[in-house]
Amino acid sequence: NRTLYIVPTPIGNLHDITYRALSTLRQVDGIIAESTRRVQILLSFFSIKLPVYIMNRYNENRKVPILLSKLQDGRNIALISDAGSPLISDPGYRLVRACHEKKIKVISLPGPCAAIAALCGSGLPVNRFCFEGFLPSKRIFRISRLKELLEESRTLIFYDVKYRIIDSLKDIVSVFGETRYVVLVRELSKIWEFIYGAPASKLLFWVQQDKTRVKGEIVLVVSGYNFKNRGNDEIPPKAWSIMKLLALEVS
Ligand code: SAM
Repeated sequence: NRTLYIVPTPIGNLHDITYRALSTLRQVDGIIAESTRRVQILLSFFSIKLPVYIMNRYNENRKVPILLSKLQDGRNIALISDAGSPLISDPGYRLVRACHEKKIKVISLPGPCAAIAALCGSGLPVNRFCFEGFLPSKRIFRISRLKELLEESRTLIFYDVKYRIIDSLKDIVSVFGETRYVVLVRELSKIWEFIYGAPASKLLFWVQQDKTRVKGEIVLVVSGYNFKNRGNDEIPPKAWSIMKLLALEVS
């Protein structure tokens, strides 16, 4: 019965833990977590004592064989991350793949995830969406990623951090245009939780007026590209001049 359990944990409010997540954490022989501090807060809140194995993005490759051998020895182990669903912009996928290759059972529990909670609260279409995780931290790469996504018609979800959010919004305005609707979802399940949506340039202005508006943890949910409402500001100047020449030709 050696099994790897993927266990989502709260993204702020500890009461968001599920009954099943708790009973799983109470049954397993060990827990894989990203950082000692966060796992200790969780375990002590729920009075759980377990051996902890640390796996983060820096040591994931090295840790996978060690953790596999613990599972192969017959131990049941839970994988958690600092917050929310493990693997979602967090480590774990290599371990899960290795478990499948070694025929170790994997049980994935449903639970809290900032991307899904933000999407559901955004008021933007949820029937088709595209999770993009974090945009690149270097501006040049961020701009080129946004350019790749310019004509993506599905709702886009981005994770972001408070010290980069203004730069991300500036780049969204410059690549997607001033009118693209963007919803800022902040501090889900915590005291300063709020959701504010506006056309990109208005949202940027609103945030710049008061920087405390982007304190804490943030998800940006961005309206997909709408071919019908294609604004002039989204058409590159070169394309405009070609279109004008063509219009002259046909008139
Ligand atoms: N695995 C996590 C999940 O399931 O949501 C995400 C981990 S990722 C390293 C951290 C990012 O998730 C943050 O930078 C933020 O974009 C988002 N996030 C996490 N908790 C959040 C919260 N309470 N409110 C808003 N965004 C949150």
